Amino acid sequence: MPDMMPAPANRTFDALIIGAGFSGLYQLLCLRDRLGLNVQVLEAGDGVGGTWYWNRYPGARCDSESHSYNYTFSKELFEEWEWSERYPEQPEIMRYLNHVADRFDLKRDIRFGTRVVGACYDDAAKSWEVTTEAGETLTAQFLITAVGCLSTANVPAIPGLPDFAGRWYHTGQWPHDGVDFKGKRVGLVGTGSTGIQATPVIAEAAAHLTVFQRTPNYSVPAHNAPLTPEFKQWVKSNHAKLRGIMQGTPNGHPFVIEDRSVWDVTAEQRQAIYEAAWAKGGLQFRAAFRDLLIDKEANDTAAEFLKNKIREIVKDPATAELLADIDHPYAAKRPPIDSDYFATFNRPNVTLVDVRRAPIERITPSGIRTGKAEYPLDIIVFATGFDAMTGPLLRMNIKGRDGRALAEAWEAGPRNYLGLQVAGFPNLFTITGPGSPSVLCNMPVAIEQHVEWITDCIAHLRAEGLARIEPTEAAMDDWVTQVNDAARSTLLPQAHHSWYLGANVPGKPRVFMPYAGGMARYRSICDEVAATGYPGFVRSA
Ligand code: NAP
Repeated sequence: MPDMMPAPANRTFDALIIGAGFSGLYQLLCLRDRLGLNVQVLEAGDGVGGTWYWNRYPGARCDSESHSYNYTFSKELFEEWEWSERYPEQPEIMRYLNHVADRFDLKRDIRFGTRVVGACYDDAAKSWEVTTEAGETLTAQFLITAVGCLSTANVPAIPGLPDFAGRWYHTGQWPHDGVDFKGKRVGLVGTGSTGIQATPVIAEAAAHLTVFQRTPNYSVPAHNAPLTPEFKQWVKSNHAKLRGIMQGTPNGHPFVIEDRSVWDVTAEQRQAIYEAAWAKGGLQFRAAFRDLLIDKEANDTAAEFLKNKIREIVKDPATAELLADIDHPYAAKRPPIDSDYFATFNRPNVTLVDVRRAPIERITPSGIRTGKAEYPLDIIVFATGFDAMTGPLLRMNIKGRDGRALAEAWEAGPRNYLGLQVAGFPNLFTITGPGSPSVLCNMPVAIEQHVEWITDCIAHLRAEGLARIEPTEAAMDDWVTQVNDAARSTLLPQAHHSWYLGANVPGKPRVFMPYAGGMARYRSICDEVAATGYPGFVRSA
């Protein structure tokens, strides 16, 4: 071969992993360094980070407390990394993930700038054939999706958007060189966690900010602050303890849910408990009582407390009423936490527009027109969320045995076993797939559990001389029932417009997607399945 010819790229692997965020990085480490497999990660972005690579909107910060928003599999890694603030900001999370990738020498097995556009199971060859946007084909025995749950941007199909003369952006596809709001009239559509984080930051920078609110939302102050040296030291000294708490709670956070009912205390005591939880701030507010998410009347007490806080903070009574006019139980949608969100509406350069009663009718060349008025704008920011959980999987055009598309198998909503595998799609594993706790859990905790389960499963197959695993239809039916039952035992399905139900994407089946039975319970179910010889799965040579 002449010297000038590049060596042919390897196209056959034991495993292909799609995505280089928290999931993909750890899955690569496990399969390559623990099992000795020949593995390749395919990543659409030009760097590691996954969801955090794309979500760099103003104010982007994780709502999990920083000391819990990291891997815990390595005590050394846990102890050597120091977060600077109570909640990690997007650039700091990127630094952390790059640190992990470099520390474990992961980047050499990641192909960046490589978007997967197709994956097809070849039954005769017993392997997956994966196609990239550049037209390359790669094959592997195992295919693992590590594509995140909130990575397919949902830009609403509002008429007139192509004619808008200004610039528009979706928060989940934010330009890497930032957006200059100085002197601009900015419109922000959406008041979920993202809109609530971005509002105060954009308001600081823009000439005027108009927030278009369809569904008002609760929010609890984050009380973000730099971490003290004492706290950092305490975290370093408590790796095992923190890991134990996070793995033992339903939601994977480093705090326990109080074992008391709303009805165990007097109204005055309850008020004092809510005040203390408000003063502490963060997602922990949910943990003030054990029945907030299962008893609507109990939830009403928290909801009323939070609505009253809005009325106290926001000076203009009409604006306060619009913000507090919340129609769902507290935390039935993913509860946002904020830094001065409600107080931002006291600024002279911020306006709230109700688009529930007067919906957005069209985008005009000069702004947004609702049923009531037209708002001239230079920039529109869509904080309109994602085609969550199933979106990132379905857009990859995955086809299983006999060419059956995942989109067809999931026409009426996602069906799988343990959120991990789908019948007819052998050796395909979906990290934090629908039907697993995923988004109802602190994500790194959910991710570590899935990655380790998948790794153990592949190790088991290899040890037994087996090549293939997939679930039975009956196991999937049973799991779908369990996922539905778990959701029904909570108030979560009562937020009828939530993305947990797919309700934010027109035409998407209304199915409660994540497993709401709690991470600790889910972990024990998965452990039991592995320990008892994988009932519900068919394994073959
Ligand atoms: P989201 O919760 O789905 O909120 C989208 C918002 O856009 C909602 O207020 C929605 O109103 C509105 N919207 C959508 N289409 C609209 C339309 N055509 N007209 C008017 N309003 C429209 O999305 P998100 O805020 O990006 O958050 C998604 C999830 O990402 C969160 O729940 C959370 O799990 C995660 N997240 C995490 C963090 C963090 O940890 N730091 C930060 C941000 C996001 P409706 O409610 O009426 O549909």
